[in-house]
Amino acid sequence: MKAIVFSEQGSTEVLQYTDVPKPTLDTNEALIKVEACAVNYLDIHARRNRPEIEAKLRRGDTPHILGSDIAGTIAEIGAAVRGVAVGDRVVLAPCIPCGICSDCHRGTENLCDTQELIGFQTNGGYAEYVKAPAQNAIQMSAALSFVNAAAMPIAYLTAWHMLMTRAQLRPEDDVLILGVGGGVGSAGLQIAKLTGARVFATASSDEKLERARQMGADVMINYKDRDFSEVVLDVTKGRGVDVVLEHVGAATWDQSIASLAKNGRLVSCGVTTGNIGTINIRKMYQKQLTVMGSALGTVAELRTLVHLAGRGKLEPIIDRVLPLHRAGEAHLLLENRQNFGKICLCPNI
Ligand SMILES: [Zn+2]
Repeated sequence: MKAIVFSEQGSTEVLQYTDVPKPTLDTNEALIKVEACAVNYLDIHARRNRPEIEAKLRRGDTPHILGSDIAGTIAEIGAAVRGVAVGDRVVLAPCIPCGICSDCHRGTENLCDTQELIGFQTNGGYAEYVKAPAQNAIQMSAALSFVNAAAMPIAYLTAWHMLMTRAQLRPEDDVLILGVGGGVGSAGLQIAKLTGARVFATASSDEKLERARQMGADVMINYKDRDFSEVVLDVTKGRGVDVVLEHVGAATWDQSIASLAKNGRLVSCGVTTGNIGTINIRKMYQKQLTVMGSALGTVAELRTLVHLAGRGKLEPIIDRVLPLHRAGEAHLLLENRQNFGKICLCPNI
């Protein structure tokens, strides 16, 4: 089969479009014919310098195939597989949990210490075929395109778990979404609008904010012009917002905390600008603030999201679709932040 592979980490030059053997299946696995695979920023880190990938390459499991957000059709199933059949249209849950630890048993498998991410610890979807445990395959409606489905797992699952499961967003809430032009930000905007909440959105350009306005954002804030917390407090007449969706880290932490109303909840899933932030403990307890973390989400949540997208309630933003062999170009677009929405690779175009 054709695949994009790499045997050493580095620039996009290391990515090679070549022939590799089709994966062989264990009894509980399914082989998926990839129709679309979305590119994530994690793919770029993996290609450049993530130590987990370096270790995998050093072990001799070369070459590595990236790609965690995958949609396609089932081409083959192992002897023990039940519940899905050859020909089913599916989207893959990106994580493979151990299935036997206490977190897995509680249904919070996103906390499993030994879970693997498809395309990271295992070979992924930058290929004509990928294998995965059959329980990762979520059947999807014919109304949902492969490209839209592939754009969902990581970004929408992260945003849903943050807003709905962790922060318990309610229709009467005001919610601040940082970096609305990114994958998690734009997914968060759509999910927040579904609940009826009022959305404050930040971005670095008026062009991105105009896109956010068209998608339903209520208050647009260009953080290059002004501290976003000042705008939040002005618009809310000093009250602040009920929920902050935070994924930036050190650079925005103080403003995110300052934007919170009484009983406000800050939920964080990322620290692209640094790990350390401080908090005024007195203000925290006086205002009854909650600061919480969030890590991807569960298969049950992804089923909910695939269902909502199949009914047209969520519409992933697709920047462009490229043939698989142009994966390097897709990485450069993402690295240079030239995209608004997801870039998807398709082996069959
Ligand atoms: Zn587990």
